[in-house]
Amino acid sequence: MALQSYRTLGIAHSMHHSDTRNDEKSVNTDGGIAKSIDVVIVGCGPTGATLSLLLAQCGVSTLILEREKSIYPLPRAVHFDDQIMRVFQTLGVAETLEKVTRYNPGMRFVDPNGKLLLDWPRPAGVSDNGWYSSYRFHQPDLETVLRDQIQKNTLTQLKTYVDVCKIEQNDEQVNVTFKDRQTGVPVCVQAQFVVGCDGANSTVRQHISESVEDLGFNAHWLVVDVLLNQDKPELGDFTIQHCGGDRPATYVRCPGNRRRWEISLKPGDDLDAITSEESIWNLIGEWLSPAEATIERSAVYEFKSLIAKQWRDGRIFIAGDAAHLTSPFMGQGMCASIRDVSNLSWKLAKCCLETNISDAVKETLLVSYQSERIPNVREYIETAIRLGALIESCDTEESLKQAFADKRESNKMKSIVPSLGAGLGVGCKDYQGIWFPQPMLSSGQRLDDRIGQSPVLLISAALLSEYLHQYAGRELDLAVISVEGE
Ligand SMILES: Cc1cc2nc3c(=O)[nH]c(=O)nc-3n(C[C@H](O)[C@H](O)[C@H](O)COP(=O)(O)OP(=O)(O)OC[C@H]3O[C@@H](n4cnc5c(N)ncnc54)[C@H](O)[C@@H]3O)c2cc1C
Repeated sequence: MALQSYRTLGIAHSMHHSDTRNDEKSVNTDGGIAKSIDVVIVGCGPTGATLSLLLAQCGVSTLILEREKSIYPLPRAVHFDDQIMRVFQTLGVAETLEKVTRYNPGMRFVDPNGKLLLDWPRPAGVSDNGWYSSYRFHQPDLETVLRDQIQKNTLTQLKTYVDVCKIEQNDEQVNVTFKDRQTGVPVCVQAQFVVGCDGANSTVRQHISESVEDLGFNAHWLVVDVLLNQDKPELGDFTIQHCGGDRPATYVRCPGNRRRWEISLKPGDDLDAITSEESIWNLIGEWLSPAEATIERSAVYEFKSLIAKQWRDGRIFIAGDAAHLTSPFMGQGMCASIRDVSNLSWKLAKCCLETNISDAVKETLLVSYQSERIPNVREYIETAIRLGALIESCDTEESLKQAFADKRESNKMKSIVPSLGAGLGVGCKDYQGIWFPQPMLSSGQRLDDRIGQSPVLLISAALLSEYLHQYAGRELDLAVISVEGE
């Protein structure tokens, strides 16, 4: 089965810390391709761009091969969470992103009469991760910030308008062939690893396995971004899920004067007709008139919920939409993708750079990527499926409550924070696979800025002397930081 989602069915209307630690490996040559590349990344969406920057933080050189000339222009992600902002902090772009993002106070589910069915508020203060638990953003803004960072980094090279067409591996390396889309000239490069961050219709996934698990959600939605001509506070700052009714719909308060409506389509809808400007104004006419805003862009997507069964074959990996797809009702597709590469990057870096690690330990590291990530992403996808079904079902308050009866005492919902699946963790199962908090240190520095993008053992001095000889990751050469004085 092909893993195709977010397929744009009706094309949109477009209406109107740099790391120099490894300079000898620098790949920013004079337009040519460096001879020595550690990792080739296929696709420069948010997943591939983030991966290249995380690897550069570890001293790993990357070549990103991207099919398109420029960033994807149609409406996609508008939300990311505190875990993701923490990854962006590691990349040194959090402060820049803060300027173009907006704290999101939460999501409300209402029935066709406007009655509140389910409330999903987000705390007003920063979370244990050191950032707000929910941000609104514009995906092209994020991708521009990431690409600017890639330009500045001496270990990352981006080649656009090229199509990866062939991948072959042996025990020593992977050979990647790509074609320049302008000249048609094929070029072959070698790397230690290849990661396919090439989206829903991934070519790299086809090299690994086409086998996917379909979690069962499938629906067509029209997505419209508008730019308000002037402020319209009555639209509100909360995301509103208009459940049931003739056409369930989502309203999103994006940063600046941009507002988003996502509208459920019916099987008999004529896609050309429904995406016309007149039709769009009809569909959102309950909330906004043409005098109040301009339609910036719109697209029809087929939302699916799929997980690839195999995320790795030897030296070849997939991450992001290439590995999983979700309906966007929790705003977690890209978030899950960033978690993928946050998990994979340091493991690949250890395998690329450290000669004192045995092959067996390398294998344990690489195998843990899929086993840790799939259960985590599955929980987000399944929750999104439940929310999507409720939004579309036209059902009552009672059915909303039933769907979450085991998790909620009232009509309030909390964000889920799934653990990682079985992987590298050893010892107490209660703490295994849990996202470690990010306290502010006594120096005023955030924890991650102190420890960097590398595994670390945080331990008290007393425990350190007692247990250091036992800890399992010795071969990984973990940094050890004593918590006293921090
Ligand atoms: C309507 C909508 C709303 C969404 N809302 C949210 C949200 O609020 N929050 C959230 O977290 N997620 C959301 N998502 C999901 C999010 O947009 C995606 O998960 C994210 O863009 C995936 O990033 P990616 O880098 O994995 O893939 P992509 O962004 O698709 O990038 C893949 C890249 O690979 C390139 N490529 C493909 N094949 C090749 C090849 N053979 N050679 C070279 N290059 C190739 C493509 O050109 C593309 O640039 C939403 C999606 C949609 C459609």
